[in-house]
Amino acid sequence: MTYTDEEICTHFGEDPQIYNGAISPPIYQTSLFAFRNFKEFIDAQKLERENYVYSRGVNPTVNILEKKLAALEKGEKCKCFSSGGMGAISAVFFTLLNSGDHVVLINNIYGPTTQLINYLSKFNITYSFVDHHLTDIHEVIKDNTKLIYVESPGTMLMKVVDLQAITQLAKTKGIITAIDNTWSTPIFQKPLTLGFDLSIHSLTKYIGGHSDVIGGAVVGNHALVDEIFEYGYQLNGAVLGAHDAFLINRGLRTLPLRLKQHQKNALKVIDYLSSKQEIANIYHPSLVKEDYPFLEKQMKGYSGLLSFELRNAHFESVSRFIDALSLFEIGVSWGGGYESLVTAPVKDDNEEQLIENGISPGLIRLSIGLEGAELQINDLEQAFHQIK
Ligand code: PLP
Repeated sequence: MTYTDEEICTHFGEDPQIYNGAISPPIYQTSLFAFRNFKEFIDAQKLERENYVYSRGVNPTVNILEKKLAALEKGEKCKCFSSGGMGAISAVFFTLLNSGDHVVLINNIYGPTTQLINYLSKFNITYSFVDHHLTDIHEVIKDNTKLIYVESPGTMLMKVVDLQAITQLAKTKGIITAIDNTWSTPIFQKPLTLGFDLSIHSLTKYIGGHSDVIGGAVVGNHALVDEIFEYGYQLNGAVLGAHDAFLINRGLRTLPLRLKQHQKNALKVIDYLSSKQEIANIYHPSLVKEDYPFLEKQMKGYSGLLSFELRNAHFESVSRFIDALSLFEIGVSWGGGYESLVTAPVKDDNEEQLIENGISPGLIRLSIGLEGAELQINDLEQAFHQIK
């Protein structure tokens, strides 16, 4: 039976009759589950990943969310994590990588993910980078390459890569593929259908959608997700709590609707930014769809995270622009919530390093929220006036 994304986000995996007719599934705020007799308890413990024994294993509220995310990604199974996307990413690395393994990182990867893989060098795990053109991918793959890890669109410059080209190559070499799919969510991109083994999310962003919860998820086939459950999940212990799962599940119900609005607002803001002399470049996948024919197959839509470069800008001018904004809140995360946010990678001491990494000191990142394009554009316009 196939379900639409909207059906999955709303009703899939729920049955009010089991919860005394409650239309909103109860929050199973419990650390453990009690049994009628010792034999039942022992039998349940033999397969903790399928039975409710202890909430560091499975919990019914978290389980509803996991079923929905697996169905949205068209994967077999999902595990959710607390401490967010990083909990999920570190569980994948910790479980799948052994001493001596090599990882290929493709595109502009979220900073802490890169820091984590770098930290794993103490366990003799090495890595190489490939940019979004994939030109040197053959050169960096080694006999000991175990994992190809991708972000598309990538952090900061939102560059896209041909996902199917990567999985086709990886399959010929028996390499596991994982992607951070946070930018698109499974509503706009379903990497497992393009051959990826694992799709990872920071649920903290669009899926939670209200900037009130931190969570992460990994979706894939039974064998891989079960292995991650046994080690990176249960033993590392970054377990999503029932109340957080409830909040994320509530966010998920309106995800398709919210994404449509994020997209609509973002496209209008981009249109406005394109007319500004003060801007050198704008980065958003919608602007490169003609350059990359694979995008039509790969992405069904575009979320609201974009960046642009202020012309000839440095730390001071970027600071002045950001401080001049009033609707856009200044914050670390891209949000993916209802609110518009602004941030920039430049600091008072890192301009040279940014340039070395191919990022302009004038880069500013906007998370376009749900307030409406008119308000967002008005705020940007008055900020441009102030810095003139
Ligand atoms: N992946 C991406 C692309 C992110 O932007 C973030 C956080 O900003 C993460 C993963 C980490 O997620 P979390 O903050 O939920 O641990």
